[in-house]
Amino acid sequence: MYATIAARLDYVRERIAQAEARFGRMPGSVRLVAVSKTVTMEDILRARLAGQTRFAENYVQEALPKITGSRLAGQGLEWHFIGPLQANKTQGVATHFDWVHSVDRPRIAQRLSDQRPAHLAPLQVCLQVKLDVEPGKSGVSLEELPELVATVAALPQLHLRGLMIIPAPCNDEERQRLPFRRLHEVFQQLQAQGYSLDTLSMGMSADLEPAIAEGATLVRIGTAIFGMR
Ligand SMILES: *Cc1c(COP(=O)(O)O)cnc(C)c1O
Repeated sequence: MYATIAARLDYVRERIAQAEARFGRMPGSVRLVAVSKTVTMEDILRARLAGQTRFAENYVQEALPKITGSRLAGQGLEWHFIGPLQANKTQGVATHFDWVHSVDRPRIAQRLSDQRPAHLAPLQVCLQVKLDVEPGKSGVSLEELPELVATVAALPQLHLRGLMIIPAPCNDEERQRLPFRRLHEVFQQLQAQGYSLDTLSMGMSADLEPAIAEGATLVRIGTAIFGMR
């Protein structure tokens, strides 16, 4: 393992570039979002100094001091919310984030749009999808996806960008690719229906290569940049 955040960030960029080359993807077609949950502001600044501008957080309470505090404000950072969303947390997301990847029901989408301040650009939205019907797991089912897509596409302060998935961990690269492939198919079906989606948010530290192989345009990487949580 490399010793510094800058070196680990370089290595992650190299992994992304190699996966793009290996799987016939355009160079630079996969964006890197650094997942900074539990990470200190000092370490976020270190990543910023190494050129990283996109960061993601899972918990509103933890994220707000980072986003609004004087250390990181004005650094030109783009903030992505990727955690589970309860109705009582939508205000903070709508007010302080640029993106949200975890929208999974119409009521949450409606609140985010209503609460998004008018002077800000629309919130950029990915819908979190679950492919298997495990109760309690977050994500919209494929059955309920069409209604959610239609709802979000019609909301004035939301801009629907694409789909997100967090598959169950698995060590076999061929098997890791299956849920990503399925999500890509669903994504293409929606595009064929006329939705102009451009973001497939899939791939984390342990499965970024299979995700890129199957069409990821955005990977969310924590551990490989900031170390074990
Ligand atoms: C924590 C988290 C990540 C990053 O996972 P790593 O394995 O640390 O790279 C990505 N996406 C979501 C939704 C997460 O909660």
